[in-house]
Amino acid sequence: MTDPNPISVPFVDLLSQHQLIEDELMTAIQAVIRKGDYILGQALVDFEAAFAADCNLQYGIGVASGTDAIALGLQACGVGQGDEVILPANTFIATLIGVLRAGASPVFVDCDPHTALIDLTAAERAITAKTRAILPVHLYGQMVSPAALLDLARNHNVLIFEDAAQAHLAEREGYRAGSIGAAAAFSFYPSKNLGALGDGGIIVTQTELIAQTAHSLRNYGAVRKYYHTDPGGTNSRLDTLQAAALQVKLPHLAAWNRERYRIAQQYDNRLQRLKSFGVLPIENHSNNGHVYHLYVIRLTQDCPVNRTMLQMELKAHGIQTGIHYPVPCHLQPAFQKLNHQSGDFPHTEALSREILSLPIYPGLTNAQVERVTGLIENLVMKSGHTHLQSLDSVA
Ligand SMILES: *Cc1c(COP(=O)(O)O)cnc(C)c1O
Repeated sequence: MTDPNPISVPFVDLLSQHQLIEDELMTAIQAVIRKGDYILGQALVDFEAAFAADCNLQYGIGVASGTDAIALGLQACGVGQGDEVILPANTFIATLIGVLRAGASPVFVDCDPHTALIDLTAAERAITAKTRAILPVHLYGQMVSPAALLDLARNHNVLIFEDAAQAHLAEREGYRAGSIGAAAAFSFYPSKNLGALGDGGIIVTQTELIAQTAHSLRNYGAVRKYYHTDPGGTNSRLDTLQAAALQVKLPHLAAWNRERYRIAQQYDNRLQRLKSFGVLPIENHSNNGHVYHLYVIRLTQDCPVNRTMLQMELKAHGIQTGIHYPVPCHLQPAFQKLNHQSGDFPHTEALSREILSLPIYPGLTNAQVERVTGLIENLVMKSGHTHLQSLDSVA
């Protein structure tokens, strides 16, 4: 059967975004080629300063990826062997890998089922004499409450290290993402709100000593050329070329985030009437400071439609969706040695079964959002109807 309404919707669309700024990108890249400072060059220094300033911070240290930003950032804060770091089980695997690579011991806690963010009450209960840091993840583009984090950190004398990989320029309670704690990590993976033309990441901080240590760690542990003081050093620099591309994109970021927010509001409005059918968007508790890296809905137990069925139905109509994330960190086969099992973090595990990420990116049109929500509504209503009928026939 041919589709009478062939509006297809990819999950993200980087090509059309880059097309709009292609001339600027080419000029910036050409300038680096001609200058020849490919490693630790001027465009990197300029971008680091500009990005840090956008976080309301002084120092930015570009590294090879967001994962490296977490590992080296923690190391630069003095977190390592023998230290416990509290992190949410509900996050992308890179958060865990970063903690392990720093040499620290990860301590998972569950999340709030409404926001999918780390449960700070559970985090407080998990604090021991060995706890050095709490690692909040500003998941999907929404910050964990800065006020609550700062309270917790002061009361228990632990440092805060933010995983802001999904939250470039996000705000809450007057704070920018990355500016709450000792230091923070961002990723420039291409599909992030600010993405490079390849891999990249950055550590940001307001503390000079942390910045100096991070500079050394990303450059073989050297304080100056061929003089190595830090054995934890490695080679992890953000390429000058990537920094040049990011510097072109950075001035557009605020407008792109506003567009994501507007699209999310449109989704919220269109999906409102499916609440009684058990379809619930992940809640926004940070007003317009949410930067919607992802727009995620939950198909709760009350929802008559099975997630796989809905995904397949949408796919059949040319609409791509995602699941962020289908297997929680604590149940990944690679990390069995952490000794967790099913049932340890029930909210995280329930979300992994119930969530579905809908397409969201700057450039997504109203018609495309209508198309996605229209198809979801049709399937849910139709299934809800038969569901109710079958309940009637039982009664
Ligand atoms: C993308 C991401 C990372 C890792 O960033 P990479 O640049 O891919 O290494 C870390 N944490 C979260 C929450 C992410 O979404």
